[in-house]
Amino acid sequence: MTLCVLNGEMMDLADARISPMDRGFLFGDGVYEVLAAVDGRVRALSLHRQRLANSLAMIELDVDVDAVFADLQALQEASGFRDSKLYIQVTRGPVEARDHAFPSKVTPTVFMMASPFVAQQLAPTTALVRDDIRWRRNAIKSVSLLANVLLKQEASAAGAGEVILHLDGWVTEASTSNVFCLKDGGLVTPPLSDSILPGITRHLVIELAEQQGLGVEERPVSVSELSASDTVFVSSSTRGLVSISRLDPGGPVGTGTPAPEFTQLATAYDALLHQHQ
Ligand code: PLP
Repeated sequence: MTLCVLNGEMMDLADARISPMDRGFLFGDGVYEVLAAVDGRVRALSLHRQRLANSLAMIELDVDVDAVFADLQALQEASGFRDSKLYIQVTRGPVEARDHAFPSKVTPTVFMMASPFVAQQLAPTTALVRDDIRWRRNAIKSVSLLANVLLKQEASAAGAGEVILHLDGWVTEASTSNVFCLKDGGLVTPPLSDSILPGITRHLVIELAEQQGLGVEERPVSVSELSASDTVFVSSSTRGLVSISRLDPGGPVGTGTPAPEFTQLATAYDALLHQHQ
């Protein structure tokens, strides 16, 4: 049995039911979070909590985020998984009629599920480099992910692990992760803006890099800088730090072997996941 929580009630995922009139289903009108629990503890909980609160505020949806996270903790404990991937989705809930504008009174749908997960350093992968065809409010962790879905499918069909996105030659992020470049011992990543998700792992990587004395620059990164880097890597809560060995178009990155600074950062990130503060 896979456990989930739907509107505060813990149940078997197979028994969970949501109305087809739910605005999440009709319009993709909702937001989500993906978290990792390692050694039985939800990692970076307060950062995820704040990001969910921000996403909800940006879509004008009033939800008790503390109650959501209390349910999440209960689910994580009940799941019995030592390491798990936790998914939270909050939508504007069911409505009587399909209308783009939302009613003033809604009953949000709050759904969460836990699945098993292994926190481990992943092997280098390859990435397509494509136009960022998404909408312009990517700081909202919206469930409307059709562009990301199509881009990731293109990567998958081409045997690539990610798609790095750019707007007019300037890197934004990747289809499911944030992007970093290492060059001459310095770390560079595009700055926070409406064009990118403020990744929790991105935040932690910047902190770790600063602790390790690496120069960190949050500034616009051009596509041509990617292939001129010693290492390009992407970051996300479920995959950690993954280096990109080859870009399409762009060819091999650096020597094909991640720079020592990448290995140090990935090792420090791994240690952070297991730290019990
Ligand atoms: N950017 C996008 C588009 C994502 O979908 C994700 C994660 O799913 C990230 C960045 C990384 O965010 P986080 O580190 O919080 O998992």
